[in-house]
Amino acid sequence: MRTLVAGNWKMHKRRDEALALLREVGDGAAAAGPTVEVVVAPPYPYLELAVRTLEGSGVQVAAQNCHEAAQGAYTGEVSASMLAGIGVTHCIVGHSERRQYYGENDAAVGLKVRALLAHGLTPIYCCGELKDDRIAERHFEVVGAQMEQALGAFSPEELGRLVVAYEPVWAIGTGLNATAAQAQEMHAFIRRQLGAAAAHVPILYGGSCKPDNAEGLFKGADVNGGLIGGAALEASSFLELVRIAYRVKHSA
Ligand code: PEP
Repeated sequence: MRTLVAGNWKMHKRRDEALALLREVGDGAAAAGPTVEVVVAPPYPYLELAVRTLEGSGVQVAAQNCHEAAQGAYTGEVSASMLAGIGVTHCIVGHSERRQYYGENDAAVGLKVRALLAHGLTPIYCCGELKDDRIAERHFEVVGAQMEQALGAFSPEELGRLVVAYEPVWAIGTGLNATAAQAQEMHAFIRRQLGAAAAHVPILYGGSCKPDNAEGLFKGADVNGGLIGGAALEASSFLELVRIAYRVKHSA
């Protein structure tokens, strides 16, 4: 199984800071020798700069969202075909912040996944339960319903082109990560949900994943890397997570 570490920069960094971080991540990944798949997701205005700066480094570039239509009168939106046209290879969809602040539901996220696949991009589909769902012990039910509603209509071949990120909402940006056992049992559940595509889909853990807790999390048999927020904003911590993922998954 492939291992992937992706950095979600959210709405952070001035242009000069973004360029410096891209250079450090690109140089660090290029110097690392054999490594895992590395992806960075800067804000839209820096995507083309990211593609250019990271050329030859092996690091790939993701957007943080896209619109489901190819083009049209959708002020403020960006299509999957536009992203493909500038060399972006991945796109995060269904992040909990999009669900929470912009009302995105799984039906809408499913349409985005379809648009991305149609343009040859890899969707990084995010799912995860709220704190109340975890307390009420309905986390499997919630994540199962998200997967079914967003991805239920896709064929195994289509699902096999996805990356899934399990991001418990209570762990995102809070410093409270899921335990290794909580992550592994949910990843195993998600893998079962993927049916015939299960062996082809990397399932990433996201939510306060940092160099000091990553080793335990990445050891889970069904944890194939991480979607990283805060710790992706510094090259040193992001590259350390890339190194840990390689060590745990590929060089033990
Ligand atoms: C995220 O927002 O996808 C994320 C995982 O954030 P953090 O690592 O900061 O919790």
